[in-house]
Amino acid sequence: MGKKLNNKSSLGLYWIYIAIGIFLVAITLWTPGGGTKEIAYSQMEQALRNGCVKQITINLNQKTAEAELDPRCAEEYTGKKSSDGNPVNVSSTIPAVDEFSKELKGLKEEGLFKGEEKYVNDQDYTRIFIYAVLPLLIMIVFFVFINRRMSGGGGGGIFNVGKSTAREFDKSKAENKVTFQDVAGLEGAKQEVEEIVHFLKNPQKYTTLGGKIPKGALLVGPPGTGKTLLAKAVAGEADVPFFSMSGSDFVEMFVGVGASRVRDLFRTAKEKAPCIVFIDEIDAIGRARGKNANFNSNDERENTLNQLLTEMDGFGSNSGVIILAATNRAEILDKALMRAGRFDRQIHVELPDLNERVAIFKVHLKNVKTDDSIDIDFLARQTPGFSGADIANVCNESALIAARKERNAVTKQDFLDAVDRIIGGLEKKSKIITAEEKKNIAYHEAGHATISWHLQFADPLVKVTIVPRGQALGAAWYLPEERQLTSKQHILDKICALMGGRAAEEIFFGILDTGALSDLEQATKRAYALVTYFGMSEQLRNISYYDSTGQNEYGFTKPYSEATAQMIDSEVQRIIDEQYERAKSILRQYSEGHNRVANILIEKEVLFSEDLESVFGPRPWASRAEELLADSKPQELPEAEAESGEDQ
Ligand code: ATP
Repeated sequence: MGKKLNNKSSLGLYWIYIAIGIFLVAITLWTPGGGTKEIAYSQMEQALRNGCVKQITINLNQKTAEAELDPRCAEEYTGKKSSDGNPVNVSSTIPAVDEFSKELKGLKEEGLFKGEEKYVNDQDYTRIFIYAVLPLLIMIVFFVFINRRMSGGGGGGIFNVGKSTAREFDKSKAENKVTFQDVAGLEGAKQEVEEIVHFLKNPQKYTTLGGKIPKGALLVGPPGTGKTLLAKAVAGEADVPFFSMSGSDFVEMFVGVGASRVRDLFRTAKEKAPCIVFIDEIDAIGRARGKNANFNSNDERENTLNQLLTEMDGFGSNSGVIILAATNRAEILDKALMRAGRFDRQIHVELPDLNERVAIFKVHLKNVKTDDSIDIDFLARQTPGFSGADIANVCNESALIAARKERNAVTKQDFLDAVDRIIGGLEKKSKIITAEEKKNIAYHEAGHATISWHLQFADPLVKVTIVPRGQALGAAWYLPEERQLTSKQHILDKICALMGGRAAEEIFFGILDTGALSDLEQATKRAYALVTYFGMSEQLRNISYYDSTGQNEYGFTKPYSEATAQMIDSEVQRIIDEQYERAKSILRQYSEGHNRVANILIEKEVLFSEDLESVFGPRPWASRAEELLADSKPQELPEAEAESGEDQ
């Protein structure tokens, strides 16, 4: 439907272009005077002398003479015979009207010109049109066009540029009918926003006890966790007007527009109170104001923010307007915006835990035709760290995969393929990999697998593949433990598992290649975090240089001396070296198993934890990992160790 409308409007624009084009071509081709042929002045004189002219009309304004020729002379002056003996018209520009009149008079006296002589005062309307009216018309069309573009096709336009572009939510439309039922999980957040709906419905209940209704609530959380969905559900459930706009809608190319739109938004909101205003991606305007006015400052954005702060202060807490805003970067927002009295409440919307993922899968599987092999619990376990949007994407992607395979219903395998695709990118089976490279990649991945199998705190392995996907030549998938705290041993084991790929290459081939880039990057970052953030290294015990305020925007100054910087570097190097040696010794110890794992990979290209179990026997810590997995606590994103090759 939307597409059709778009086509229509773009066709409308094309019509304007086509009409202007045809008009310009027609103007150029059209010669005034219809059938009149333009001839040289000398020819005109000659025609007069030869007695060919029956009548002559002199245009005083245009300094032209139009002569009606005798049909006998038509061919001589126009190159064409007169049809049916009709007179033929020719015209020419004359040097000066006075001179020409004198000349005509002389010719008359000599008896050479016997025809009539007329003087007219005609205007050349075509010229006037082309030089005066047409540019004006083009300007008007251009202006109308710009105006329509600025107003986004609807009303408004350049005169209304300062008006807020907030859309009032139309609950009668089917696509807007989002209710709290459609938001799976997020119980805490749902409860808080439901409370806001209650405030607006029965304000007295809260105000009689002396309470003040909050002015605003900020939904904070990672991308795709359902913040916008939650706000839409509020709109669907609350029986009050709901205005929605995005932070970037305030910004326009004109100075002062942002501030004026904020004023307009609040004026409209107050008129329609009680109501809810939702500002999505508020970080577009709410970013902390710079301290140095000349450096990297953005006056327009700051003015808009200042206006927002003023307006939020300006209305009484019981005026019935509640501002909801969403962002995934609360740390960069201006402190003034977050203080009580403005956005009094911060509602954290986290990545869903296991149970919430089950609930989200249930919401999104409603419209997917699945077969009996689907086990929602299993799917939820396979997707740790996925956001609601990722899960919606998995459901959609699996339906597409099943359709591509001409299936009647979506199977478990389609879901697993969709998950792999979303984590690792599209399989690139056609990527040219030599047999030697394949062996290298297999040993590298087998190194990660072997080490993570033998370390107590390394994340349990799910799958290893050497089929290139996206940017990676091979990948190992782990299920991160669902835990809140990470111990030093966890970090060290993780670094050791990361170094496993390169260690395997060195032990078995004696060469280093670029495939370990991503591993090294991750290991180095973890080692730096261990030393500088978590204060876990021996040399720099219990010291953290982490800045949660995000104030040191430009990183020009470091909060430690040069000597400490050197100490940090040497500690990081020591940790990495130790873990690398540890990885090598584990691989030497289990070299026979490692070889078998690599050979399975070369043969089958994919390997699951069951294959590892058949090689090394059951993992002593598997039961603990299982136990943790069953626990439904928030978790980190799954790690897909991607090895980039030389060619990338
Ligand atoms: P961003 O910060 O990037 O704007 P967001 O948090 O606003 O993201 P939404 O736009 O609300 O994310 O979510 C995107 C989509 O993900 C929704 O349209 C919905 O299909 C799905 N989704 C996210 N969370 C949930 C949930 N809790 N229940 C059901 N669906 C969800």
